[in-house]
Amino acid sequence: MISFHSLLPELAQREVRCVHLGGTPESAAKPALPADEYAYLEYYCNDLNCDCRRVFLEVVARGQPGKIFASIGYGWEKESFYRQRMPWAPDEAKGTVRGELDPLNEQSEFSEVFLDLFQRVVLDEPYRLRLRRHYKLFREELVRRQAAK
Ligand SMILES: [Zn+2]
Repeated sequence: MISFHSLLPELAQREVRCVHLGGTPESAAKPALPADEYAYLEYYCNDLNCDCRRVFLEVVARGQPGKIFASIGYGWEKESFYRQRMPWAPDEAKGTVRGELDPLNEQSEFSEVFLDLFQRVVLDEPYRLRLRRHYKLFREELVRRQAAK
């Protein structure tokens, strides 16, 4: 996987999804989430023979470099597309199209907060289409760079 911003930095800068959070107070149940600007950075699969149509999102904060707040996997196609690719795991397709925490990557004590925010606020139809377009542009850029070698 390669970050979208490493391949198409200007577009990524312009079109990354950010959320400004005012911060939450600490409670007995939850630690305090600092007020900050949080970004959902996009990563895509760089295997051109694979057409997985997913994005891997890493949530980071402008004011807290180095910390990963959540790692989220998401697929913008219909559930049937992912079910066909993974017939042995029909339930996984459901998680893919809703967005889910990636079990193989870094999470934090706030992962659930950012997954919830993703599902309820960040993921709307324009964003779904934006990710699909970014995936296409990402692959076109990979092809272009390989041809230039
Ligand atoms: Zn792939």
